[in-house]
Amino acid sequence: MTVFPLKFRPTADGHVLFADDAGGFFKSDEAFLSRYARARLTAADDIFLLRNGHAFEEAGDLAYSGFEYRFASRLYAPGPMDYIILVPTLRCNLACGYCQVSRVNEHTPGFDWSEETLAAVISFLGTITAPKMKIEFQGGEPTLRLDILTTIRDFCRSRFELCEFVVCTNLQDVSPEVWNFLSLPDVFVSTSLDGDVATHEVQRTFNSPRTDQFVENLDSAIARLGNGKVSALPTIDPRRPPDPRSIIEAYTSRGMHSIYLRPVNYQGFARKRYDARASSSAWNAYHARFIDELVNYNWAAETPAEEYYFVHCLRRILRAGHNGHVDLRNPNIVGHGYVVIDHDGKIYPTDEARMVSRVGQFDLSMGDVFTGMSRSTIDALNQEASNNFHPDCVHCAYQAYCGIDLVDDLSRYGRIDVPKHETDFCQRHLAIFDKIFEMIYSDDPKVRKSLAIWAGVPNFDASLARWQL
Ligand code: SF4
Repeated sequence: MTVFPLKFRPTADGHVLFADDAGGFFKSDEAFLSRYARARLTAADDIFLLRNGHAFEEAGDLAYSGFEYRFASRLYAPGPMDYIILVPTLRCNLACGYCQVSRVNEHTPGFDWSEETLAAVISFLGTITAPKMKIEFQGGEPTLRLDILTTIRDFCRSRFELCEFVVCTNLQDVSPEVWNFLSLPDVFVSTSLDGDVATHEVQRTFNSPRTDQFVENLDSAIARLGNGKVSALPTIDPRRPPDPRSIIEAYTSRGMHSIYLRPVNYQGFARKRYDARASSSAWNAYHARFIDELVNYNWAAETPAEEYYFVHCLRRILRAGHNGHVDLRNPNIVGHGYVVIDHDGKIYPTDEARMVSRVGQFDLSMGDVFTGMSRSTIDALNQEASNNFHPDCVHCAYQAYCGIDLVDDLSRYGRIDVPKHETDFCQRHLAIFDKIFEMIYSDDPKVRKSLAIWAGVPNFDASLARWQL
């Protein structure tokens, strides 16, 4: 019998978590670790490892093929380009202190698409062969250029079989024409609600008339468009985060039960104001507190709530192929399945790459809509975009569930070869995976109830939390 390589990590309860390259896991103790390291496994160990897919009898047998299948299913392969983020203007009618995209004042000229840029974007979209298309309008505040949004929408509807449009708007000033656009059946709204109203005012609107106007527009959007068409994100300053319960209540009271907590991003304007680079421990502590509060909330709530990214990571542990989030994939090949087109027609592989380029760190652009795409820089980066052979990640028990984000590393450290455990990406994901495994191995009924809801199953099956002692 041969055992597939096992990685291990001590857990807070004094045991040891083991995981293989295909994402299979179990808990044991230091005695097992010693037996494994010295090749002195017992007959009972052998039976356990074989039964649970961590070993095989001979290459090509069912256990071997099953492991290979599970391993391959966890790898991300980009599909056809069917998702484009468009930035028709950088102008914005708010000036949030941590704005991630270096927006400019609403009345500053020269930061919108020109007629030529709009025509070139339409030509670019016309070269895409995918049958369906998702367009996300970002800014600045994209509704300041409703005319461009309308032109793009009309073109896409005529070009693709199926279209979806997401408008990322601050919902601050919504004209009747913008309401009409947002009310269309294939248009969705993404906005920001930084927790309770007081926190939102401190971080975004700065005075109560503006705050009241936003809250009225948000509540109208939910009432007019329906819950499924409006999503909101809270951006959290880890140095002074709002009470978790206040965020949960601000969202669930509006019928929004998926909350995607985001720390202030160390990019764009945020770079100048906040030391977000060194804030991962404060963030991790807050995030864990938020999850505990959600568990308490769900115990009694009629409609449960979730933290979107935590649930995404949980599902990546429990099953393969969960690659729907662009920040957590392996390999994280960028510049193929989707791109971003900036206000000046330049094309970027991701929104973060746009910000990194805009603040002058690196030029991660991939050409522009006038002269076409060039992937040479990005494909050089893509050659490093896998954690499978990374000298730190190969020893990590969480490697199969984790991913890699080279643009984030470039943005924070100006290089991609910083030891992983020193990076914000690694520290955040270690903390999330530690928390998830602590919950998977918990016998607290409250925890199990939330885990079942978040995993999408009627009851959390205790046999998932395997032991070999
Ligand atoms: S980035 Fe960190 S948590 Fe993720 S696989 Fe690598 S070492 Fe593990």
